[in-house]
Amino acid sequence: MATKESFASNAAGLAKFRDLDQRGKIMAEYIWIDAEGNTRSKSRTLDEKKDGAIYTPEELPIWNFDGSSTGQAPGDNSDVYLKPVAVYPDPFRPPNNILVLTECWDADGTPNKYNHRHECAKLMELHAKHEPWFGLEQEYTLLDLNDRPYGWPQNGYPAPQGPYYCGVGAGKVVQRDIVEAHYRACLYAGVKISGTNAEVMPAQWEFQVGPCVGIEMGDQLWLARFLLHRVAEEFAAKVSVDPKPIPGDWNGAGLHSNFSTAEMRKEGGMKYIEAAIKKLESRHKEHIAVYGEGNEKRLTGRHETGAIDTFTYGVANRGASIRIPRECAAKGYGYFEDRRPASNADPYSITGIIMETCFGAVDD
Ligand code: ADP
Ligand code: MN
Ligand code: MN
Ligand code: MN
Ligand code: MN
Repeated sequence: MATKESFASNAAGLAKFRDLDQRGKIMAEYIWIDAEGNTRSKSRTLDEKKDGAIYTPEELPIWNFDGSSTGQAPGDNSDVYLKPVAVYPDPFRPPNNILVLTECWDADGTPNKYNHRHECAKLMELHAKHEPWFGLEQEYTLLDLNDRPYGWPQNGYPAPQGPYYCGVGAGKVVQRDIVEAHYRACLYAGVKISGTNAEVMPAQWEFQVGPCVGIEMGDQLWLARFLLHRVAEEFAAKVSVDPKPIPGDWNGAGLHSNFSTAEMRKEGGMKYIEAAIKKLESRHKEHIAVYGEGNEKRLTGRHETGAIDTFTYGVANRGASIRIPRECAAKGYGYFEDRRPASNADPYSITGIIMETCFGAVDD
């Protein structure tokens, strides 16, 4: 059977090589999103910039990969291009190496089918005057190499939910080291991670990223996902973003999406919040269509969710589609939370459709 030791990285062995001089070169890890919503990456060598300055996306070479191996292109026309869009310090190779987030483009000069960023970026630019802020809450479950949630008995189930949410102590939480390492990796890379907590189902955790402005939200959340998978790899753990990893009386996993505009954040902002919610109501189905695969298993109206077929909203209501935080209702301005997106949704699709619904399509 696969053991942790046979799969986890040998950090002590690698440590001897960490401080070797790179002789004026750096490693750039190009990251992209594949057909299934996983991140993929590969490395290339670049010249170090003078005085160790960090590259801008525009300065970095466009690269490519074999799209037939990732389900992103047919075998007879398989080159997919990687266009750098954001650069971050690499926490796995400090101090001067970089992570490069990229968009996928086809050879004919059109965005790849799975490139949801391109449309999103256009919407963000068109409606930039509203100064959209987003904050996403990424829930996920840590699995062992046999796809069992960490710490769950081999046969049967843990004791019912209750002690695990924000739990402290053995028997309540597992794999906190991964959460801690991911938190630090995010801070090092410059991800605006705003916090973490243990979730209601044992082996389930959450981190939040935000507030981020416009397209930065999708970029940062995808980078944070990459970092989480990469950190968990070192601990021989799998990260699942399945919205209902365990059927039955166990909470699912979401990607609650908090949103505000300049108007909503000012005194009297509640009328803009209510207007936005009305617009969201009129396009409920279109939103659900891009809010993640398998979300119908999660949005049952139980376990702190609204039902998938009905749009509801309320102050401090965790059983609604949209929640207005108590504090915002009391102040009369602030933000609201769209609780519908599933943990596996694409943040570019979520933030894009929120902008489109509130402020109009690019061609309107
Ligand atoms: P919850 O109470 O739903 O668990 P969290 O604290 O987990 O909320 O996450 C709230 C998220 O909302 C954070 O990412 C935070 O940065 C973000 N946020 C806070 N204020 C705003 C705002 N005005 N506009 C958009 N997002 C915001
Ligand atoms: Mn090759
Ligand atoms: Mn939360
Ligand atoms: Mn949560
Ligand atoms: Mn929430």
